[in-house]
Amino acid sequence: MHTKLFIPGPVDVREDVLEKMATPQIGHRTKDASNLQRNISEKMKKVWNTKDEILLSTSSGSGLMEGAIRSCTAKRAAVFSIGAFGKRWYEMAIFNNVEADLFEVEMGKATNPDDIDKVLKTGKYDLVAITHNETSTGIANPIEKIAEVLNKYPEVVFCVDMVSSAGGHKVNIDELGIDIVITSSQKCLGIPAGLSICTFSEKAIERAKTVKNRGYYFDLLNLYKYIIKKDYQYPSTPSIPHMFALDYQLDYILNVEGIENRYKRHSDMAGIVQNWAKDKFDLFGDEKYLSRTVTAVKNTRNINVADLNNELKKRGMMISNGYGDLKEETFRIAHMADTQIEDINELLNNIEDILGI
Ligand SMILES: *Cc1c(COP(=O)(O)O)cnc(C)c1O
Repeated sequence: MHTKLFIPGPVDVREDVLEKMATPQIGHRTKDASNLQRNISEKMKKVWNTKDEILLSTSSGSGLMEGAIRSCTAKRAAVFSIGAFGKRWYEMAIFNNVEADLFEVEMGKATNPDDIDKVLKTGKYDLVAITHNETSTGIANPIEKIAEVLNKYPEVVFCVDMVSSAGGHKVNIDELGIDIVITSSQKCLGIPAGLSICTFSEKAIERAKTVKNRGYYFDLLNLYKYIIKKDYQYPSTPSIPHMFALDYQLDYILNVEGIENRYKRHSDMAGIVQNWAKDKFDLFGDEKYLSRTVTAVKNTRNINVADLNNELKKRGMMISNGYGDLKEETFRIAHMADTQIEDINELLNNIEDILGI
């Protein structure tokens, strides 16, 4: 039996998208490959409202995160973390010998833009890495307010992890002056895991030129130079199956569903799950900054989340336990990608039925 995934990635993928993964292969040094990759870039620019170049990577999103912080920090990176994925940026910096400092808040809180201002005023940093939508806590940072602060510091490259929000929560990349945004295929875009996507601004390009050791596979400048020179082909063999699926899915998002409708569906689903959580349990974290793509429910009834999931599995559904230390203390329901309102209602009805609440 098919298990519908209500976990924050990998998400359930529509049948028609899955079928595109089985398209007969094409050579990666052909005109067809150039066209496919160029089309994806053009469509992603529309999704993200950006004029910046798009880079694709055959890796999950973590690859491009590592590439961004390594390729674009010349002096020192300031990492602002509100959970597990924020902290990951910092570890990537340290493990790559990139100078960095970590600024954390209590789990369930958002970053205070004034705190970023204080840190950047020291003049020590030339890159900021931050998470837009923290999947471990169900909190979305106030990215517009944060961008206002960043715009006071033109020497700082602004990197945003939008892995679990891109395609589900609108952010105007160019208006906010974000230099690098990153996402993965298996979250709100709704295709299988294995491909990631980022933007790469002029400022980020110029910065990377001054950084000596940018690595090899995730050297964003090398990727950029290569696609410009070779008509959107990549230095190594990309996952062409993912590209067929993504190209198809971007047409669906832009022309069939419509991107604004998609954003609205995500916030409608978030509203339903959050109201339900407040009614039956409680919400984890600061209610002013709730995510539109994943909800962390505070386990006020002390239910056994693993048991609940076993019962749900028998009914063809699956949710997520809390992340790391928040396991059992919270559980998470993802409302992302092509999940529909009816799916969410069906899930919540089943949870109520299983728990007798
Ligand atoms: C899933 C996720 C990641 C990691 O992405 P991968 O594609 O698994 O490498 C990073 N950040 C956030 C916010 C995520 O939700």
